[in-house]
Amino acid sequence: MDLSLAPHAIAMTAKEFQIWSKNFVTETLRASGVKKVVDGITAPIWAWGQRNAIYPLHFGIACCALEMAAASACRWDAERLGLIYRSSPRQCDVLLANGWISQKLRPSLRRLYEQMPEPKWVVAMGECAVSGGPWYDAYNVVQGLDTFIPVDIYIPGCPPRPEAMIDAFLMLNRKITAEQKGTFLD
Ligand code: SF4
Repeated sequence: MDLSLAPHAIAMTAKEFQIWSKNFVTETLRASGVKKVVDGITAPIWAWGQRNAIYPLHFGIACCALEMAAASACRWDAERLGLIYRSSPRQCDVLLANGWISQKLRPSLRRLYEQMPEPKWVVAMGECAVSGGPWYDAYNVVQGLDTFIPVDIYIPGCPPRPEAMIDAFLMLNRKITAEQKGTFLD
């Protein structure tokens, strides 16, 4: 290791050394083109894994959540797309908001979104989550999820049918394939 790149390396704390060595390795791999080669090989594999194992947060807000439940039942069987609900945001990569979002719920929903690890996506299901729905311009209802969380896919309807939800997740599959988020060292 070339210590001339860090003249004060001897005086580093363990934490500082850990950060310095991580940056050193990352920059070396980027500069040498190794990252580009590894990304070219592994990014499609990560995207394949992500799109075939989507874990939405199990968090139904209002009546649209019943359509979400129906989509998981045997008639539509959303699980065949790899769609499995989890109860902790720390194990989820999709926030599926379905229902009206009250001003009181807004900070908690934002916190749940922030607790989800990267890469993550957001789906707004139903008129309420998209734009406030029947509570358009109401003082106590947020006028759309995208006013405080970035939304990837919108599902219109009141309520949208399970087919619409499945169609939205197929669209999300294509988006994940195209974006290839979470590549090597990102
Ligand atoms: S969009 Fe319609 S069905 Fe869905 S939560 Fe709002 S009122 Fe209920």
